[in-house]
Amino acid sequence: MTRVAVVGGGLAGFVSYLTLLHGGLEPEEIAVFDPEPDPAASWRRRAAAIRQSTMRSESDGHCLPTSFPGLAVRDAVRRRSPAPLVQSVCDRYHPTVESFLDQVSDQRERSGWDERVRPSRIERLRAVDGGFALDEHGVFAHVLLATGHPGLALPDELAGNPGIVHAYEPHDYAEEVTVVGAGMAAATEWLNALSAGSRVISVRRREPARRPLNVERQFFTRRGLARFQRSGRSERIAMLRRFNEPSYPPGRDWDEPLARAAAEGRFRIEQSVNGSAQVICATGFTRGWQNDPLLVDLVDAHGLDTELGWIAVADDCTVPALTDETRTLALAGVAAQWAYPAADTLVGAKYAARGFLRRVGRCRTR
Ligand SMILES: Cc1cc2nc3c(=O)[nH]c(=O)nc-3n(C[C@H](O)[C@H](O)[C@H](O)COP(=O)(O)OP(=O)(O)OC[C@H]3O[C@@H](n4cnc5c(N)ncnc54)[C@H](O)[C@@H]3O)c2cc1C
Repeated sequence: MTRVAVVGGGLAGFVSYLTLLHGGLEPEEIAVFDPEPDPAASWRRRAAAIRQSTMRSESDGHCLPTSFPGLAVRDAVRRRSPAPLVQSVCDRYHPTVESFLDQVSDQRERSGWDERVRPSRIERLRAVDGGFALDEHGVFAHVLLATGHPGLALPDELAGNPGIVHAYEPHDYAEEVTVVGAGMAAATEWLNALSAGSRVISVRRREPARRPLNVERQFFTRRGLARFQRSGRSERIAMLRRFNEPSYPPGRDWDEPLARAAAEGRFRIEQSVNGSAQVICATGFTRGWQNDPLLVDLVDAHGLDTELGWIAVADDCTVPALTDETRTLALAGVAAQWAYPAADTLVGAKYAARGFLRRVGRCRTR
C-alpha cells in the first residue's frame, strides 16, 4: 500500500505530508523517514537558541497545504480583532513563534503524522524498476527528499576555540560578546545580548542587505519566479548567491536599540575577532549537496546534473533524470533552491510539496 516516501520529517517533510493528504492520498500510502518524530524539533531548537519570538515570514508562513487562510486570520479570530488582517494586507504581520508552533502541534496530532514516521535515517537511495529503493525499507514509486541543512557552519579559523558557540546552539551572554555574521540570526543576537546587558562587537565581512524576507519579495510572485526560472545557469547562480548573502529586515525596531547602544559605547563593528571571552557564530549552515551524505551518494550513483552546490532540479523541484510517468524523485527545502530561490522557507516547502503532489496525482490517474 505504501507507495510514497518522504525522507526527512522536519518542517518541509511535514508540509509535504499535509499537502499529500489534502490532495487525496491516504495516510497509509505515505511513509516518512526520520529518526526524530517531532517535525518542529530542529527548528524549535534553533529558534529557541536565538530567542526568536516572532516569525520572519508572514501570514502564509505555516505548514497547512493551502496558503489561505493564514495565521493572520487565525490570530484575528482568536483575538477578536481585525488588526492582524490589516497588518497582513500591509505586509507587516509576523505571527508569533508560539502561535506557529501551536499550529504545528495541532496538525501533527490531527493528521496521524506520528503513525507514519518510521524512526530511521536513510543512507542510500537507488533508482530501480518501478521506483526507488531506500536502504532495506523496500521500493517506493515516489520519493521526496527533505533532509534540511546538513550542519552548522563555523569559520575554520575559529574552530576549536573554547569561547566559541554557534548561535543555533543553547547559550547565555557574557559581559562582552563578539557576534560573527550579519544576517537575521546575527541581528537577533545583537539585540539579545544588548538586552542581557552585554557589550556587543559585531564582526562582519560585508554590510548586510536590509530586506523583510530572506529573498526579495518579487521572487515569491509568479512573475518573479518565472524570470528566475527562465534565467541561464550563470545568471541563476549569481541570483542565488545574492539571496544567500546575509540580510535582516529594515525598521526602527532593529535600528534604534543599536543606535542607542552605539552612542553608549556598548555596540561597535569590527573587521575581525579580537579576543572577547565569548564569540557567537551566527554563520548559518554548511551549504551544498556535497555536505549531505545521502545526496552525495545519490549524485555519484546516478551522475546527477549539478552546478556548484546545487542539484539542477526541474522547475517543479523534481530530479529530471530520475522522474518519468511512473515514478518521481523530488527535493524540498534548501536542496530545491535551483527551482525556487526561497526553497528554505515555509512558502518554499509548499511550492515543492505541490509540485510533488501534481506528479504523484498524475501517475495515480494514469
Ligand atoms: C532559527 C530559524 C528561523 C527560521 N524562521 C523562519 C520563518 O520565520 N519563516 C520561514 O518560512 N522559514 C524560517 N526558517 C527557514 C525554514 O523554515 C527552516 O530552516 C525549516 O526548518 C526548514 O525545514 P526542513 O524540513 O527543510 O529542515 P529541518 O527542519 O532541519 O528538517 C530536516 C529533517 O531531515 C532529517 N534528516 C536529515 N537527513 C536525513 C536522512 N538521511 N534520513 C532521514 N531523515 C533525515 C533531520 O533529522 C530533520 O528532522 C527559519 C530557520 C531557522 C534556522
